[in-house]
Amino acid sequence: MIVKIIPCLSDNYSYLIHEKETGTVSIVDPSEFNACDKIIDKYKKLDFVLNTHHHADHVGANLELKKKYNSKILGFNSDKNRIPGIDILLKENQKYKIGNLEFEVIFIPGHTKGHIAFFFKKEKIAFTGDTLFSLGCGRVFEGTHKEMFNSLNKIKNLPLDTKIYCGHEYTNSNLIFCLKHDPKNSYLIEKKIDIEKKLNSNQPTIPSTIAEEIKTNIFLRFDDPVIKQGLGLKDSSDVEVFSKLRDLKDSF
Ligand code: ZN
Ligand code: FE
Repeated sequence: MIVKIIPCLSDNYSYLIHEKETGTVSIVDPSEFNACDKIIDKYKKLDFVLNTHHHADHVGANLELKKKYNSKILGFNSDKNRIPGIDILLKENQKYKIGNLEFEVIFIPGHTKGHIAFFFKKEKIAFTGDTLFSLGCGRVFEGTHKEMFNSLNKIKNLPLDTKIYCGHEYTNSNLIFCLKHDPKNSYLIEKKIDIEKKLNSNQPTIPSTIAEEIKTNIFLRFDDPVIKQGLGLKDSSDVEVFSKLRDLKDSF
């Protein structure tokens, strides 16, 4: 499984997936036709479009790509009226094959009501859209904080060496927020060096891994006593701590 990162718009990432044995080509969250088509051009085909959620910066090129390549568009069943050109309606926990690659649909509402992640179990790769970012999480637009919290816990429970490919390059601003509320975290301080090196040479900070995120991403660290204490929420529940952090980030 080869994953190519396609920077789109100002800070979006679309991804091309190439499965060599059958030559299957897929794209995750095509934002922009031209940027995606330039990479697809090498393969002269596009079999599948995988959408994590309905937002325009994730489905923007669906129809043009479908028109040019006759691709099949996959998205969550409850978003069948919001994902342009949708052909295949996915269900929670469903397994689906693109060529020889199999992914599992993880239902992770919160950012939107129908948000999903694509988890390639064998390859240990997950596309998390706007739910889990490197060092951050998406805004809660359509769901509740509790839903987002549950969704992040589902991702947190994936195998530790799972690679995370997310929808945006927000890592640097997320880093500043994490450092503000978790300043003594040595993993975070170490990661800062790596992030700055990558960004300074115009490289994506993606992919991250579940293990790294658990150690550094404050939105997965709601159970850390030091963070709870720092927020003045020593006796609060994990979901209350998460909600507080999400609210603070909204106005950060
Ligand atoms: Zn979004
Ligand atoms: Fe987005």
